[in-house]
Amino acid sequence: MKEINSKISGFYKLSIEERQKLLTELYDLKKEEQELLKNLGYFTSTQLDTIIENVIGSYNLPIGIACNFKINNKDYLIPMVIEEPSVIAAASNSAKFARKHGGFFSDKVKSVMISQIQITQVKDLKSAKEQLISHKKEILERANEQDPVLNKLGGGAFDIEIREISTRKGKMLIVHLLVDVLDAMGANVVNTMAEAVSPYIEKFSKGIIYLRIVSNLAIHRTVKSRATFDKELLGGEEVVEGIMNAYEFALADPYRATTHNKGIMNGIISLTIATGNDTRAIEAGAHAYAALSGQYKPLTKFEIDSNGNLVGEIEIPLALGIIGGMTKIHPMARLALKILNVKNAEELCQVAAAVGLAQNVAALRALASEGIQKGHMALHSKNIAKLAGVPDDLIDEVAKKLVDANKVRVDYAKEILENILKKT
Ligand code: NAD
Repeated sequence: MKEINSKISGFYKLSIEERQKLLTELYDLKKEEQELLKNLGYFTSTQLDTIIENVIGSYNLPIGIACNFKINNKDYLIPMVIEEPSVIAAASNSAKFARKHGGFFSDKVKSVMISQIQITQVKDLKSAKEQLISHKKEILERANEQDPVLNKLGGGAFDIEIREISTRKGKMLIVHLLVDVLDAMGANVVNTMAEAVSPYIEKFSKGIIYLRIVSNLAIHRTVKSRATFDKELLGGEEVVEGIMNAYEFALADPYRATTHNKGIMNGIISLTIATGNDTRAIEAGAHAYAALSGQYKPLTKFEIDSNGNLVGEIEIPLALGIIGGMTKIHPMARLALKILNVKNAEELCQVAAAVGLAQNVAALRALASEGIQKGHMALHSKNIAKLAGVPDDLIDEVAKKLVDANKVRVDYAKEILENILKKT
């Protein structure tokens, strides 16, 4: 392949079709590769060009449904977009274990976001704080003028918090503008408000303002969800004990806690993508919350009830919306929200927390019982059997033998097939 010069002047000014043509020439693309680029799925080129910059095409991923979820006494089919096998099956399974005991119970949560305003070079911190507090009403009014729609619906800025932090550039005052963003994720809403109130804050504090931006540590939007997972359906006392051991491991060890939380995010991020929400905001908030105590911790906790069942609880900040951002622009996100049938952002957050908990229990169960690799291997072994040329009616038999022997390899699949054929 010829060497590429990545400095392409005016690339951003080209149309999608022109960018595709340029790539075709640069990379000498084959007919089928050009067709891949041209297939924009359910988008028009104009739509795609307004979503991000320098668009060259559209990227597809599978969307599936997790079944068996009952959350706050309502049944849900959960749309999930993910590239990893086993995740949706695992969530559905785990939801079944909880369903026997009434499903998931998620607490109420307000859609409150924090916008941070950074004030530097404040000469008199005490007086600045007093001034800001005494002009709070004015600051909030100015913030709320920015979003009459939100205000009319009952949301908007309702309070400020003032924090003093020590930095290498001296002390700073950080104002948190608290905004009820109702059904939105809220980043744009609160950023606009913070920008609008900054001149006032600068005037009252007599400092210099630099950053005015949402905090993705959406601590006021922390959702709790809990469920009882049936001991027998999980696989018995030993599996429950294994899960408790896995939990203690995660509590004590950040290396394990990271993977523990990754399992939770498998579920939550799949739903986040499906509903057109911002995955980075959710990930950043979750991991910051996990580390808030000073040590990175699991986002779930577990205990065993008097009947030996596993009781799990998740606690996670979730800034998810059903309005704004991509939620209403992306056709599949709109459909996913229709399937999910949630009436507001609060309900979406309650569902997402439950999905995270279910996903976590499924992963811990797999690890604590058969070992997650074996679960993956069961699926993988069928593909290997196919690759080895095993006829359809023998795939299951060969795949099982591959897993049992712990030798999921094409050469061994061929050997098994030969032996079966010799016997018949
Ligand atoms: P938005 O600005 O697209 O829409 C929100 C607006 O919808 C509100 O201002 C309100 O006027 C209107 N609205 C109508 N009905 C409403 C209701 N029932 N509840 C709430 N609002 C209602 O969306 P947003 O949620 O403010 O911003 C989300 C986008 O911001 C995402 O795409 C995200 O990726 C992006 N973003 C994120 C960050 C970050 O996370 N750090 C920073 C900047 C931008």
